[in-house]
Amino acid sequence: MKKIIPFILVFLFCFACKEANNSSDLSKVETEKEAKIEQPEFAIVIHGGAGTILKKNMTPEREAAYKAKLEEAIRVGYDILINGGSSLDAVEKTINVMEDSPLFNAGKGAVFTNAETNELDASIMDGRTLNAGASAGTTTVRNPINLARAVMEKSEHVMLSGKGAETFAEEQGLQIVAPDYFYTENRYNALKRIKDKEKTELDHDGKTAFYDPFIKDSKYGTVGCAALDKNGNLTAGTSTGGMTNKRYGRIGDAPIIGSGTYANNATCAVSSTGWGEYFIRAQIAHDISAMMEYKDVSLEEAAKEVIQNKLTNLGGTGGIIAVDKHGNMVMEFNTAGMYRATMDDKGELRIGIYEKHQTN
Ligand code: ASP
Repeated sequence: MKKIIPFILVFLFCFACKEANNSSDLSKVETEKEAKIEQPEFAIVIHGGAGTILKKNMTPEREAAYKAKLEEAIRVGYDILINGGSSLDAVEKTINVMEDSPLFNAGKGAVFTNAETNELDASIMDGRTLNAGASAGTTTVRNPINLARAVMEKSEHVMLSGKGAETFAEEQGLQIVAPDYFYTENRYNALKRIKDKEKTELDHDGKTAFYDPFIKDSKYGTVGCAALDKNGNLTAGTSTGGMTNKRYGRIGDAPIIGSGTYANNATCAVSSTGWGEYFIRAQIAHDISAMMEYKDVSLEEAAKEVIQNKLTNLGGTGGIIAVDKHGNMVMEFNTAGMYRATMDDKGELRIGIYEKHQTN
C-alpha cells in the first residue's frame, strides 16, 4: 500500500491541475462570449433616399459617385463619434455632406416645385432630451439641417416655416444663399418632364412626381442619418427638397417629428425616406420607437412590422434607417433599393444601393 501512495498523490495533483486549467478555459470562453455580446461604443447609419433604384438603369460612373459620396458623408460622422463627439454633431455634419451634393434631393440637389422654386424641409431630434427642431419650406438656407438644429437649440419652438424660418436663420448667422443656388439642370428637367406628362395624361396619379433623371426611374432622394454616441445618446436627422412638382406649400414627412424623424434614448433613432404623405399618416418613425417602448420588441422586428406591414398595407413606399440604444442598426425598405451605409465602432463600413441583402 505504501508503495502506491506516491502514485495516488501524483494522480491527484495532475487531476487538480487539469481542473484548474479547465475552469480557466471556461472563464476564457465566458469572457469571449461577453466580449461578443458587448455592445458597440457607437454606431452610425445613413440613407440617401429609397426608390426604384435598379442596377440596369445605373451607369458604373454614377454608382461609383453615389458610393463615394455616401462613404465621404458617413466618415465625417464616424470621425466625430470615434473622437468622443456627440451624435448631434455627427448627424448634422454627415447630413451637410449630402446636402452639399447635387446627387441627393436635399440642399443643393433639391427638386423643383410646380412654381419652379426649391422649398426645403428638415428636422433633427435629440434622443436624450426629446427636444426637436424642424424647418419647412425654406428657399434661401443653404443647409436646412443646421436650421433645424438652431430651431431646436436656440428657439422656444419646434418647427418654423417659410419666411419666418429664413429670418430666424439669418439672425442665427446661418449660411444664406440666393434661391438659384439650388438650381440644377437635372432637377429642372425632371420638373419639365412631369409637367409635360401632366398635360398629356389626364389620369396622372402623382407617382411620377418622384421621377429621378439620375436613375431613370422614381426615387425619394431625401437624406438622413441616425447615430449613437459614446455617451449613449441617440440622434436622428432628415433633410429633403420634398417631391418634384409639389404645390400649395406642400410639406412632407421629413420635418414632421414622429414621421420623418424620431429619437429617444430609451429606444432608437429613426430617419425616413419615402412617399411623405403615407409616412405622416402612419407616423412611421415614432411607431417604430413606440413598438420598442411599449411592446419591448427589437428594433429589427419593429422596423419590419412598420415598413413591411403597416406602411405597405396603407399603400405607401419607402424606407427607414435606424440605430437602437445598443448600437444595432437596421435599414428597412419596401422599394427596390435605398442608398444606404453603416459604420460601427470597429470602423467597418457597409454600403448598399440595391435590394436588401445585397451590399452593393
Ligand atoms: N419623404 C420625402 C417627402 O415626401 C421625399 C423623399 O423621401 O425623398 O417629402
